[in-house]
Amino acid sequence: MSGNRTFTMIKPVAVKNGHIGHILNKITDAGFRIVAMKMTKLCVTRAKAFYGVHNDKPFFEDLVKFMTSGPIVAAILEKENAVEDYRKLIGATNPEKAEEGTIRKEFAISMQENAVHGSDSDENAEMESNFFFSFDERYNQDGFEELG
Ligand code: UDP
Ligand code: MG
Repeated sequence: MSGNRTFTMIKPVAVKNGHIGHILNKITDAGFRIVAMKMTKLCVTRAKAFYGVHNDKPFFEDLVKFMTSGPIVAAILEKENAVEDYRKLIGATNPEKAEEGTIRKEFAISMQENAVHGSDSDENAEMESNFFFSFDERYNQDGFEELG
């Protein structure tokens, strides 16, 4: 993925509250190109796998319950320095600590219901993208499918 792609999810509460369009606007206004995108729903098994790194945390079971409570929007985003720049755009995990103008500051309800996910490294961006998208669901800047 060579540092220019990241993975995001718009979480169930933000979908439910009608924020898909607002959040996508902030993403594209910040210069990210959408490589792949789908609306889908996580089952418990897949939510546990996606957040596997947190399986020993006290918030894990609640997080899985929340993430399976409704549809999410998953997307692969492209921009130079994508992982770091997207983490800046979404803001801190705790929305009370998120900076003005960030997606979480504007749309998060709580630490758990914090509107969006953003990958924390290039390696995880690639793993998380592969978790949701096959290569024929990804499009390059000319609108052609990526080669697998
Ligand atoms: N989370 C939570 N309680 C916490 C910490 C995290 O419910 O005390 C949830 C929250 O939805 C967060 C997700 O677990 O986005 C993953 O946590 P992580 O520390 O990886 O935060 P992120 O990378 O999403 O900022
Ligand atoms: Mg994280």
